[in-house]
Order: sequence, then structure tokens, then C-alpha cells
Amino acid sequence: MERDSFECLPSSDEIYEEEIHRHHQFSSAVKSRNNVVLPAVSPTTSVHELLECPVCTNSMFPPIYQCHNGHTLCSTCKTRVHNRCPTCRQELGDIRCLALEKVAESLDLPCKYGFLGCTEMFPYYGKLKHESQCNFRPYNCPYAGSECPVVGDIPFLVAHLRDDHKVDMHTGCTFNHRYVKSNPREVENATWMLTVFNCFGHYFCLHLEAFLLDMAPVYMGFLRFMGDEIEAQNFSYSLEVGANGRKLIWEGTPRSIRDSHKEVRDSHDGLIIQRNIALFFSGGDRKELKLRVTGRIWKEQQNPDGGVCIPNISS
Ligand SMILES: [Zn+2]
Ligand SMILES: [Zn+2]
Ligand SMILES: [Zn+2]
Ligand SMILES: [Zn+2]
Repeated sequence: MERDSFECLPSSDEIYEEEIHRHHQFSSAVKSRNNVVLPAVSPTTSVHELLECPVCTNSMFPPIYQCHNGHTLCSTCKTRVHNRCPTCRQELGDIRCLALEKVAESLDLPCKYGFLGCTEMFPYYGKLKHESQCNFRPYNCPYAGSECPVVGDIPFLVAHLRDDHKVDMHTGCTFNHRYVKSNPREVENATWMLTVFNCFGHYFCLHLEAFLLDMAPVYMGFLRFMGDEIEAQNFSYSLEVGANGRKLIWEGTPRSIRDSHKEVRDSHDGLIIQRNIALFFSGGDRKELKLRVTGRIWKEQQNPDGGVCIPNISS
């Protein structure tokens, strides 16, 4: 039985080495917004450490609690410790530590993605919100078909896709591949094939998926940009599939890998091929799917006024 496979028709495969980024350990500096030097409890205790919950080690946010002996802990941990101070085992009570809450308010802290390039400082209570949207926050692994927990920056993820997911890597902005699926009756909700393209100094993920759309089996091809949405808008791509004088063409804007492959699939933002058409394009006895997919990625003219527009055709 033939394995699902694809071949690159003009054999111009190039293997390129991608340096794995080693992230430097990042140590956060704490400074008061008014440049007031805050009194340290001991020479080794920074304010930042004081604001770290001794139980869960997360940053504490109001309400911050303390025991009769002054040991602090966060509100989440307080509900878990059955009214006993985890440090001194005394009864905990309901004492807020307003002084520490006030100290926190006066702090500016660096974004925790400083080691990835973010240089911004944030008031203590605005830091978490920023970090959830920081442009430097790591990306999730774009590999679909399994819930891969790996996160990192783009060079790291490219190396991870190549080495750990054995994804095929191609250099160039045009492609001409033949995708073969030995059992086209099987429609699993998964990525059937992922290929990574290196072009214009960026990386793009070409996904081919098989799934049921309103009970009908379809195949879908779409491109995702390995980078942020704003930068993805600078590119366009086309996908073409056909045979016997018929063809389907899709032109679109690659989606950022910040959007999960499922989000892109569910918004139908790509080339969708009905199974009957796909089998027609495959030729032969319709027992095997053989799709020849050609495509191109190009750069769009910069349009500074253009907003981000993401279609959701399905809704
Ligand atoms: Zn805690
Ligand atoms: Zn205590
Ligand atoms: Zn940031
Ligand atoms: Zn992964």
C-alpha cells in the first residue's frame, strides 16, 4: 500500500541550515516609577521578589493577603491553604497587605518577553494584559494534526518543524507539487500535509487538509505566514489545482500563525476542493488522490492605510 506522499516536480530542493536560537535567561529589573529607591528587606530581596507569591511563585495582584506574622500570599493560594499560613502554619485570617499592593502600583516592570526583543516597561497592573498581546510573545508551533505544546520564535519553530515534525522545507516563491493520498475515502479532521517555504526572507506554511464541510468531504489548501498578522498583509499567494482543461484558482492573503490552523480552516479562507472534483483532477480510476498543486507567493505594494481584513466566509 502506497504511503501518502508528495513530490516536488522540478527537483530544486535545497536544504538550508537554520540556527537554533538559544534564549538567554532573562532577569527582570525592577525600578520605581519615580526613581525612588525602595527599601529592601534584606540585601538579597528585591521588590519583585516580595511581589512573588511564596506558594505558587506567580506575581501577586490585589487582593494580596498576609498572616498575623506578615507572611504574604496570593488570593488564589489563600483559598487553597485551608486558613493556615504556608510559611509559619499559624491561622491566616483575612488580612489584606495594602502596603504591598500600593508598592506594586508604583512599579514599572519590563515585559517578560524582553529576551525576545520587547523593550517596553509597564505599570505592574498593566503588565499581564500587555504580555498577552505583546508582539514579541512566542508563537505556538504551527504544526496541525497534533496538539504540539512547543512555543518559540520563528527561527526556533522552523528548526523544530524540520527536526521534530520532519516537515519538508523548500526555498523559493513558486511551487509545483503533486500530493498523493492512497485512501481518499478516509477524511480525518487533520492536516494531511504541511510544507514550509522560505521566500522573501520569511517562512510560510502550506497546509493541505481533508475534512467534512456540511457532511461533504472536501480538501483545502491554505497558506500561513510565520510572523504577525500586520506583516502577513504584505504578501499574497495563489493556489491552483486542475487537470483535463479545468482548474480551480485561489488567491488570498496568508494568515498569521497567530491564528490556529483550525481557525483558518473554519473560516474557509483558502482553496476548497470538493472530493468529486479532486478525484476528477486525479485522473485514473478514482481510487487514489493525486493532486497537482501549483502556487506562488508574492509581495504586495505597501499600503499604510490598509487595515487588517480577515474574511470569515462560513459565518
Ligand atoms: Zn500563590
Ligand atoms: Zn505566617
Ligand atoms: Zn512586550
Ligand atoms: Zn511542534
